[in-house]
Amino acid sequence: MRVIDIFDTTLRDGEQSAGINLNTAEKIEIARQLERFGATIIESGFPASSPGDFDAVQRIAGIVKNSIITGLARSVKSDIDRAWEALKGAEQPHIHIFLATSPIHMEHKLMKTPDQVVEIAVESVKYARKFFPLVQWSAEDASRSDPEFLAYIIKKVIEAGATTINLPDTVGYATPSEYGALFRYMKENVPGIEKVKLSAHCHDDLGMATANTLAAIENGADQVEGTINGIGERAGNVALEEIAVALHIRKQIYGVNTGINLKEIKRTSQLVSQLTGSLIQPNKAIVGKNAFAHEAGIHQDGMLKNPLTYEIITPELIGDASTELVLGKHSGRHAFKDRAIKMGFELNDEKLNKAFAEFKKLADSKKEILEADLFVLLTDQQFNEKHIPVYELDSVQVQYGTDSIPIATVSARQPNGELISQSAAGAGAVEAIFNTLERIVAGKVHILDYRVTSIGKGRDALGEAVINLSYNGDTVTGRDVAQDVLEASAKAYLNAVNRQLVKSNQKVEVEAG
Ligand SMILES: [Zn+2]
Repeated sequence: MRVIDIFDTTLRDGEQSAGINLNTAEKIEIARQLERFGATIIESGFPASSPGDFDAVQRIAGIVKNSIITGLARSVKSDIDRAWEALKGAEQPHIHIFLATSPIHMEHKLMKTPDQVVEIAVESVKYARKFFPLVQWSAEDASRSDPEFLAYIIKKVIEAGATTINLPDTVGYATPSEYGALFRYMKENVPGIEKVKLSAHCHDDLGMATANTLAAIENGADQVEGTINGIGERAGNVALEEIAVALHIRKQIYGVNTGINLKEIKRTSQLVSQLTGSLIQPNKAIVGKNAFAHEAGIHQDGMLKNPLTYEIITPELIGDASTELVLGKHSGRHAFKDRAIKMGFELNDEKLNKAFAEFKKLADSKKEILEADLFVLLTDQQFNEKHIPVYELDSVQVQYGTDSIPIATVSARQPNGELISQSAAGAGAVEAIFNTLERIVAGKVHILDYRVTSIGKGRDALGEAVINLSYNGDTVTGRDVAQDVLEASAKAYLNAVNRQLVKSNQKVEVEAG
């Protein structure tokens, strides 16, 4: 059967979308999970864009061995050099170079003639091939380019040594029949096209990313690019879990295989959602909270008589065990450790002990501990590495009444180790906490977005707070979980501030080294 390669760009196209900022440890964890998920290629960043991106790409290239690791580069030597520095330690070094080919981009963004664009593309691919065995070349805005010109430049970059040609629908403008036709046209009109892989890259601006990607597969694409949960610029990229499950459920129609391990979908989706702080809409295909919920009475009746009446996908297919009751108050350290390993966590003894203590605390106040709770708790421990001194919440207290002014008192440990307490009022309980914290962190904080959700179901569910703020001129997203949403909010606030401190510290380190 024909095999379709899955190119994941959650850490590049996904990470560059509004409000998402992952630190290196989080990127590594996502990359490891993408490896378990079975991504053929993982685009782990844009090495020339920042020291943080460079560091993440280099470390992921050293750790992940079962997926090919790539990095993005503009068509300039300095970007290619930087990418080589980051990727030379990889099992199979792969680079992704892009250059725009549509009239509007060539004229208004690049300010180059088509001939100049061909020359730059050829030069950059030739240069990259001096180092990299695998060179992917992307014709940015391919779907709005002149097909004849596109066929010409593709022929030239194949001659220059490109091994994969990507035809992105950069602005999410194409329709399925147009996008499919573009692939067919290149297959039929570019000499040498059979020697390279042809790749699709779709954005969801018109809600057609999944349909467009499938149309590309029907018309000869060998590789498809997308992100987990469809995160990405503007309306996002195509959601890879949708492609993987569609190709599986409708195998008879598409007749292709992917190397995707469908059972890892749920976990991959949860991890990306949790670490990026981007919520999954409840009715999202495949991974939404309600994707398998049958509410209508007549449906429920049918399901009871025969699940196939209304169910085309089972939660088990994608490894969804989030509602499974896993551990109780009396579970011991051993059972806890077993479960953590079964869920794919690798924690050292110190972290495991900390996670176990957290679990015991939670089990005292929450009747049922579900897999979703454990997932949050264990993921949190994974990133509990403090390389530099940061703020730590000690306690929070709020006086609140509908007829009185809310007042918060917070004590927190400062980076220098000193424990300080402050108090402030606000229009609401959360604002009072934020106002108090602003006094503690000494600096101007501007809240951009704030949200609270519950993990799992029930009145004793854990509360998760996600907060996007600007601090010291940087925009950062923080998140944390607690049994009470006010405590979660205070912790999420400090988490965001701490991320900014770690980020600025990283910059200094890299500049100095
Ligand atoms: Zn894109």
